[in-house]
Amino acid sequence: MSTQRPSTDELLDELSALYREVDALYALWSCPGTTECCRFGITGRQPYVTSIEIAAIEHAIGRRGGPLRPNKRALPLHTDAAQERACGLLDRNGRCSIYADRPLGCRTHYCERAAPGPGPSREVLRDLVRRLQELATRHEMGGDAARPLERVLDE
Ligand code: SF4
Repeated sequence: MSTQRPSTDELLDELSALYREVDALYALWSCPGTTECCRFGITGRQPYVTSIEIAAIEHAIGRRGGPLRPNKRALPLHTDAAQERACGLLDRNGRCSIYADRPLGCRTHYCERAAPGPGPSREVLRDLVRRLQELATRHEMGGDAARPLERVLDE
């Protein structure tokens, strides 16, 4: 019996379904949309992404015609660009340029400014991360070893 490896497109469909589940779990949360969470020098944190999430980002960038040029990227909010380290996917209008395909970490409202609603329990969240890692392993050997988004975008 031969087991066929799933295509990247099939895995991306599974990833989209998983993202929809996450979004539904956080549906009652809100945030003031300051974009601070997309500025890693301000939060001191950033999403770590698996191989399948990177593939989704690459597809989304390709669909919208390539990477953001420097003059389309976000301007600093408070200090300077070097200190704020805005995500390279955040555009000048304060929008995530790949919003529908943003990684799991960007969907979980980790910013202190978010207004929490009923959300997933720790167990449910752990299970979602486990499923994401499993998906990434099926995509690429070692794909579950998540890397900082900033480093991935610099490569
Ligand atoms: S991928 Fe989008 S939502 Fe996530 S940090 Fe970058 S700009 Fe913000």
